[in-house]
Amino acid sequence: MAGGDSNPNAPNYMSTFKCVGGACEETCCTNFQVDVDRTTFRAYMAVKEPGLDQDLRKYVKKLREPRSASLYARVQLTPTGACPFLDGDKLCSIQNRLGESALSETCRSYPRETWARDGRRYLGAKLSCPEAARLCMSSPDAMEFPRDPVEHPGDDGLTNSAEAAHVHRGASVRWAVHAAIEEVTRDRALPLWKAILFAGVITETFLSNDPALEPAGSELLQSIGAYTAETRQTLLSEDFGGGDQAQVFKILTGIALSASRKGNAHNRFPSIVQTSLGEIMGSAQDFDGALKRYAEIYKNNFKRFDDEHDYALRNFVLNYLYINRVFLAGPVLPQFQNLAVRFGLMRLLLVGLSSARPEGLSIADYAAVVSSASRIMDHDASVSTEICATLDAVEPRSVSLAARMVIPPV
Ligand code: SF4
Repeated sequence: MAGGDSNPNAPNYMSTFKCVGGACEETCCTNFQVDVDRTTFRAYMAVKEPGLDQDLRKYVKKLREPRSASLYARVQLTPTGACPFLDGDKLCSIQNRLGESALSETCRSYPRETWARDGRRYLGAKLSCPEAARLCMSSPDAMEFPRDPVEHPGDDGLTNSAEAAHVHRGASVRWAVHAAIEEVTRDRALPLWKAILFAGVITETFLSNDPALEPAGSELLQSIGAYTAETRQTLLSEDFGGGDQAQVFKILTGIALSASRKGNAHNRFPSIVQTSLGEIMGSAQDFDGALKRYAEIYKNNFKRFDDEHDYALRNFVLNYLYINRVFLAGPVLPQFQNLAVRFGLMRLLLVGLSSARPEGLSIADYAAVVSSASRIMDHDASVSTEICATLDAVEPRSVSLAARMVIPPV
């Protein structure tokens, strides 16, 4: 889809993002709830283009009880989940015939996400869009911000570089913790999974009582800084292998299968899950055999490519933190559970795929896994709720269980 913001703060990959339209592997014109605002609805009802006018009246329906001017009507999808305005070339017939300005806000903006804070505007993209995922994961500096750091969210607590660990006076404890996690995640000397472990321990230490977004005292901000430095050193020097790998494997595969059942013929996620888990479990005689095979594929097929391209999943995590403003509001534990499970699950699927690729993995595989998983997991709110319920059923309100989802198999 098209459109854009004139000059917001945005990571590098946004400067080249452009919808690829009919060439898209998993177009957003299927399985999306397309809300239509009141102005656009009225404009559609006044269209006099032969053929299109009838379709607009047939498929764009005013909500029985419109919730607001922006949530006024909705496009009724076809029984297969496709947008009825998608033409034979996988292009939007509304845009083709009436121009981009005729699109609803939902269609015009996706996959872009914009927000404002303290007079500044920020822009990023949802990685459920395959093209945004490809760009975000294709280069080490895709998640850098080109502007002067002063204008970057770092001023408010989000940082742009490993050195920018300091949060300004008046920052809340939530902002300080978010900044510390972003800083540690950017540190390529630290394996990514350890950065997510860090997110778990620091949130448990400083955010476990879900503090409000109020300014924290300078002493507290300093202690977050000291804690970050110390914990990073510990993570660098220590190994955290082991744990109950069978339990982690069972939980992640269960969530993958459950989420894939929410997809349909238009989604790539179910076939990726099938291929990947098929590789891991295919020739194994039993569950222990599958677990052993998972660890072998991880070591022999996946690890080297992933080490050489460690920025790919790292950029996914950085974008996830940025787009979702993770930990900045709301209960913290569900946010950590969702972050840890997404990472663990996407890595598991990539491990399986690495066995199905005699020529080795490619960044295209990473983009396919991340975008197709995000398409289901981020657009269907029930998935996030189920992730928390699944973990809570095993160990209620446990940061430790969620953290174990990211420890690699041994
Ligand atoms: S998912 Fe992204 S690239 Fe594909 S059609 Fe939508 S905006 Fe374009």
